Amino acid sequence: MNNLTTQTEIKNTVVELIRADITEQNVDAIVNAANAHLAGGGGVDGAIHRRGGTSIMQETREKYPNGCPTGSAVATKAGNLPAKYVFHAVGPRWNNGTNGEPEKLHSAYKTCLELAVKHQCKSIAFPSISTGVYGYPIDQAAKIAIQTVIDFLNNKETETKFTLQLVRFCLFSENDLNVYADILQSQTKQS
Ligand code: ADP
Repeated sequence: MNNLTTQTEIKNTVVELIRADITEQNVDAIVNAANAHLAGGGGVDGAIHRRGGTSIMQETREKYPNGCPTGSAVATKAGNLPAKYVFHAVGPRWNNGTNGEPEKLHSAYKTCLELAVKHQCKSIAFPSISTGVYGYPIDQAAKIAIQTVIDFLNNKETETKFTLQLVRFCLFSENDLNVYADILQSQTKQS
């Protein structure tokens, strides 16, 4: 795994796609695809808590006893993982696509990007939020994920507190990687 496929630059920030396990990423922040109770689950969430250790769950319980609403994200430290922070993002469960799923997915990604700036992160890695157990169709989810990052970087203010130099998408399958690569290519051509 870990084969780098696509890299592009938007206003001095690198956007890249790799096939990789997000728990192994040596970046300032990794994003978790969490549930609204921050209760732990399978998929990315299970991998993060397994490898990161119990301190992550302890911190979410202490700081966010009421969980996190769908479409938002909260930050903790990253325990034993190479990253400094985990941003627990709650994407929507797919339900026909007519129940606000696109807006919620967009806002989950955007909140993570804002948290990255707030925590002065230089690098952040995202999984493909909502496209596992939550059933969001990968092509539709990838368009939102990538467009949210492109818009965020294009609209950033040129202030010194903007530290983000790398936004990485860690895809878990070759198919997901190919879908993201096609969309990144077409969306950066347009912008
Ligand atoms: P959700 O509940 O938001 O759909 P999942 O964790 O079920 O979240 O899946 C989101 C995506 O993350 C899926 O494409 C899944 O294959 C992928 N995934 C699972 N484990 C990892 C991991 N360790 N690193 C990166 N991606 C992962």
